[in-house]
Amino acid sequence: MGNDSQATVMLHVVLASRNVGKAREFARLLGPDLSVDVLPETISLPEETGTSFAENAELKAQSAFATLGGTVAVLADDSGLEVDALEGRPGVRSARFAGEAADDSDNVARLLQELEGSGERGAQFVCELVLLAPPASTAPISGCDGMLIVNARGVLRGEIEHEPRGTQGFGYDPVFRPQGWDVTLAEAGAEDKDAVSHRGNAARALVARLRELDILG
Ligand code: IMP
Repeated sequence: MGNDSQATVMLHVVLASRNVGKAREFARLLGPDLSVDVLPETISLPEETGTSFAENAELKAQSAFATLGGTVAVLADDSGLEVDALEGRPGVRSARFAGEAADDSDNVARLLQELEGSGERGAQFVCELVLLAPPASTAPISGCDGMLIVNARGVLRGEIEHEPRGTQGFGYDPVFRPQGWDVTLAEAGAEDKDAVSHRGNAARALVARLRELDILG
């Protein structure tokens, strides 16, 4: 899944995920200098056993990088919701907050139930990205003979509403209202979400770091 302007692509990365929608989203967020492919079907990913988003992203990146033979750049992400009144929960358990088989609406219901009667509604979405690249893809850096590791983090602060609103997006979007907004993420369009989202912020931080390192022009 590349970008349209293949001619200008400076770095090809394989996303350590088989989610085509996510790869498309990252391709859009990372801009035309990077192309993003999904992980081939034959490559399995490790269990997300880390205790932080960064650890889980690193586990996925290392595993995919090794399985692909260390010859292509790999990008891995992990994200979720941290709620102040719940001391950072659901955190790395965001997708399974209401149980292993829980869907988005089960998780939202569990969240609202845990926050019932609480006036403290602050929360944040966090996205951690880890990029591993072999020396060959970092050729623009002279004398660079080691594997490149770049970490980037993006955060979106907001508040948890008392009931779901809106139909766009996924996960906790219907109950998450970004700071300074009147609407939830599920009431906003994808473009407005990208402009402020944890994934957007992490992607922008990653691109900025790659420019600092002269890997992107
Ligand atoms: P993943 O690691 O990106 O697959 O995200 C794990 C879980 O975090 C998802 O299943 C959602 O419950 C939650 N999550 C992550 N990002 C978002 C978002 O942008 N909106 C709503 N929920 C999210």
